[in-house]
Amino acid sequence: MRPVTEEQIRGSFINATADELEQMHMPGLHEMVWEEREFLGWRDLRAPRRGYLTHWRGDELVSFVVHASQATMRRGIVAMCSLCHSSQPSTTVRMFSARFAGERGRRGSTMGTYICESLSCPYVIRRGPAYFTTPEELERRGGAMLQRLERIIDHVADEARR
Ligand SMILES: [Zn+2]
Repeated sequence: MRPVTEEQIRGSFINATADELEQMHMPGLHEMVWEEREFLGWRDLRAPRRGYLTHWRGDELVSFVVHASQATMRRGIVAMCSLCHSSQPSTTVRMFSARFAGERGRRGSTMGTYICESLSCPYVIRRGPAYFTTPEELERRGGAMLQRLERIIDHVADEARR
């Protein structure tokens, strides 16, 4: 992923309220290993249910805010993140809701999806056995993950125009 600045992130949200933007807690951008991530996702340390995803769509940075459901999945089963498709214990995947952009979102309409609780899918896909984390495999999985992220962004953004 190409590096991003705090200012770029703040200006790129499609579904955040003014309050959310004002209260948003940024991750440590200077510590990021940008070449080892396809997108940036982080949870807000000060607003524990809130999280953010930031993605370069060509030359345009697009970010959206998500809220973690308080409900957890049943323990002892395997769950899959809808972004990175990593199968993992159900306790590390959570339902997040994203408010639609625009008027529809202001009326409270949201979409829900299961994502790694940490929102750090680029990190998640780099863990695991060596045969699963070769450069070719990471390229393939990272590319598929970004396509799925773009579909979610389309969905969050497009709904505003209907
Ligand atoms: Zn994931």
